[in-house]
Amino acid sequence: MLTPGATIGILGGGQLARMLAMAGARLGLKAHIFSPGANEPAFDVCAARTLAEYDDETALKAFAEAVDVITYEFENVPAATAEFLAARRPVRPNPQVLALTQDRLVEKQFVQSLGIETAAFTEVADAGALARGVAKLGRPSILKTRRLGYDGKGQILLQGGADLAVTFRALGGAPCILESFVQFSKEISVVAARGADGAFRAYDVCENVHEHHILATTTTPASIRPETADRAVEIAQKIAQAADYVGVLAVELFVIERAVGPVWEKLVVNEIAPRVHNSGHWTLDGATTSQFEQHMRAVAGWPLGATRRHGRATMRNLIGVDANGWRELLQEDGACVHLYGKSEVRPGRKMGHVTRVTPETP
Ligand code: AMP
Repeated sequence: MLTPGATIGILGGGQLARMLAMAGARLGLKAHIFSPGANEPAFDVCAARTLAEYDDETALKAFAEAVDVITYEFENVPAATAEFLAARRPVRPNPQVLALTQDRLVEKQFVQSLGIETAAFTEVADAGALARGVAKLGRPSILKTRRLGYDGKGQILLQGGADLAVTFRALGGAPCILESFVQFSKEISVVAARGADGAFRAYDVCENVHEHHILATTTTPASIRPETADRAVEIAQKIAQAADYVGVLAVELFVIERAVGPVWEKLVVNEIAPRVHNSGHWTLDGATTSQFEQHMRAVAGWPLGATRRHGRATMRNLIGVDANGWRELLQEDGACVHLYGKSEVRPGRKMGHVTRVTPETP
């Protein structure tokens, strides 16, 4: 267990690392950010920084020696980097979690091995396998690269008629999986934490709306049946336990509803994020302990905090030019504005978010 004044090393310097560093500072924990990018949002708010590549062993060694424990803000930390660091300092969540979540095929197999449902999928190593996959799963279906996809990058929706060889080449010939298209009614996520002692705490289930494959809004609580919410949390706990997870994770799920007859909701896991997650940003303003504080607590070996909600929370991402409306947002009563300090506005770039928390009528 760390004591206040200890230093937590964070791999990655984006907005997630920035908000982790700020939450840690509140508890007297220092953040040391390691990132190859020069203009990182987290560099503004950390106690120490290392600007180096993830394969720079001299820099990694010095970083490990300067910190007490190491965590990460994104799942694409190279496996070799995580292993190199884990030989020197505790890495939380453990590096095996990266192996599970960096590859969509391995991740889906892991989830299914726990008896949890995913979309039907098949491995696609070449255009021939894609043709066989489409024959099996039908269309529409989605071709996704096994690695390095995010915010809809590295995936193609296969509708009727698309030329399969051309489609496969469009993703660079990379190893892929083909997934059946899930006719979901809602997308939800469970943001939860597991402590070093195995304690588990989840926030209320979030309902997410994506626009152009990027998260646009999260509303908590999700408008799903209480039994469905309980099941979603159980799924997240099962995953966290099986992975011997320490820290905050998010499990993204699809809700499928039966169109006729009594209400019926089925859950299908889409993805696991081994880190704090955009759908948990509302917790900064809407919960007793934010997901960022929760993660720092878990990584430090400290007790987890309460996940109680202050009300109904809606978070909207400020993407690209949305952030130019910051003046108006600042004038709005009750709008909690967060800006990530990114100097360059680019389309699709997450520049900040705004959360509104309204009291719930009992
Ligand atoms: P992903 O990168 O896997 O998180 O996918 C990004 C978004 O694409 C999801 O949030 C969904 O909106 C959509 N999507 C991904 N996979 C499927 C699927 N199998 N069926 C339907 N929609 C999907």
